[in-house]
Amino acid sequence: MKFCSQCGQGNTDEATFCIQCGASLEPEGTPTTAAAPPAGEVPPTPPAGAAPPAPGVVPPGAAPPGVVPPPPGVTGRPIGTAPGAPYGARPIRQQQPTDGMAVASLVLSISSFIFCPVVTAVLGVIFGYMSLTKIEESQGAVGGSELARAGIIIGWINIGLTVLVGIFILVMVLVASTQ
Ligand SMILES: [Zn+2]
Repeated sequence: MKFCSQCGQGNTDEATFCIQCGASLEPEGTPTTAAAPPAGEVPPTPPAGAAPPAPGVVPPGAAPPGVVPPPPGVTGRPIGTAPGAPYGARPIRQQQPTDGMAVASLVLSISSFIFCPVVTAVLGVIFGYMSLTKIEESQGAVGGSELARAGIIIGWINIGLTVLVGIFILVMVLVASTQ
């Protein structure tokens, strides 16, 4: 009984290759892919007249032990960052994560018409400008600029309407007090 140096499988003494993994069961140092040629016979692979490679010397063209050559056909270009990708800008744009601050800006500005004027509208406008800056600095990594712009516009409308209503009430109060 002899044991495979690769997987530890026990094999018969007559076995040349492991029955489990196929590794050579010859002593270490001999090639695992081909049996050593008989003494005095030139191996078929080198040209006629060339001396067989000495033991321990790496034959020309073969990778030195421990170095794994890169697989053929694989380039180092990461997936998804290729310039000139076959997909247009629109599908990539749809995969952008929407900036949460843009959503908050729009929600706050809309709620300024429903719950609390001016205060939430000012917050919505501030959030909208902050979101637009963040989206611009992200250079396309973050989306939602449409929401942020809508939040800014709706917020300003609420602020403007509130100011107009405030001026109107103030004028009415002044007019009423003078009479
Ligand atoms: Zn084995």
